[in-house]
Amino acid sequence: MVTRARRPFIWDVFLLRRYAEIWKIKDLITLQRQLPTHQASRTSANVYEIVLADSIARYKRMEGFDVRFQTGTDEHGQKVEERAKSAGITPKEFVDEISGMIKGQFDCMNISYDKFIRTTDPYHEKQVQKIFKKLYDQGDIYKGHYDGLYCPECEAFYTKSQITEEGKCPVCGGELKEMQEEAYFFKMSKYADRLVKYIEDHPHFIQPESRKK
Ligand SMILES: [Zn+2]
Repeated sequence: MVTRARRPFIWDVFLLRRYAEIWKIKDLITLQRQLPTHQASRTSANVYEIVLADSIARYKRMEGFDVRFQTGTDEHGQKVEERAKSAGITPKEFVDEISGMIKGQFDCMNISYDKFIRTTDPYHEKQVQKIFKKLYDQGDIYKGHYDGLYCPECEAFYTKSQITEEGKCPVCGGELKEMQEEAYFFKMSKYADRLVKYIEDHPHFIQPESRKK
């Protein structure tokens, strides 16, 4: 293992410094990429992303980093429910098929992942419930209402400033619906000062620079 100090390497969802502190591991790299199951038809996009991630993982291993490369499928959401219904199968049957197909693609391409995780894996669900309950009990999560423009294809809300001139989704170009929903929110404001200080003290925590704004 290479021991000289390195600049943290950031890709997608990344908590290198935090993990490195918890596990007391130097030169640890965590690569994480979760694929939405309802968009399995985006095969070329899946392949493109995983090949990029795999290249990074292999390169960083060669450099001597302790790499953990985790990928998998995100199997919850309204879209999954709708697609399963129209296919006449249960949501579980639907995600089993799609997740199996994605994993099959990755294995066929010899992707060097360390872990393929499914959000419907029982141990994953249990941990999420545990974390959610802890955050809820300590007042970090609260129930509220969200109003906004919703894209059913992306399963995401967008603000008026984000949408296209024609009033369409800025990501997929689909129709947006005015929606109101009851939702759980994370009380980010409680941590804002700490977060800002951390980002200022660790200039490489967010990259590229433009994402800091
Ligand atoms: Zn969209």
